[in-house]
Amino acid sequence: MPDSSLMLKLCNELDISVNELLSGEVIEKANYNKKAEQNLLGLAKLEEIQNKKMMMYEMVIGSLSTISFLALMFTLSLPTMKTMVRIIIFILAFLILILGISFALKIETETGYYECKKCHNKYVPKYLQVYFAMHCGTTRYLKCPKCHKRSWNKKIYY
Ligand SMILES: [Zn+2]
Repeated sequence: MPDSSLMLKLCNELDISVNELLSGEVIEKANYNKKAEQNLLGLAKLEEIQNKKMMMYEMVIGSLSTISFLALMFTLSLPTMKTMVRIIIFILAFLILILGISFALKIETETGYYECKKCHNKYVPKYLQVYFAMHCGTTRYLKCPKCHKRSWNKKIYY
């Protein structure tokens, strides 16, 4: 599969349609719509698989950084540790937590979309909006860019 930014150029050069490129064959006029729908479904399926993969990465990164944070915080209770080491571990623990959560939220922002509860507008919010929004699981309290009302918006992955 060529890079999507090259597809149009390539198709013009080969004098074929994108539909034909995706199908890998010259398409008869009668089959054209059917082939186009098959290709669209295929692409949707591909995105669904990709989104599920990203969701898994998010969960792994989020969990690992939280567990590392808790483990490092636990080591601070050891009585024999020097103050300097204690401070370094304390800073390191927070760095790991913040980096992990930031990365996980970056994935969450870019995967799927949110649906406004009030006007049912589907949108992708800005990263900082996601970062600072109250949340319960993947449902976030966000301001809809269309109706500008705040509500608990559910994350939809596909
Ligand atoms: Zn709305």
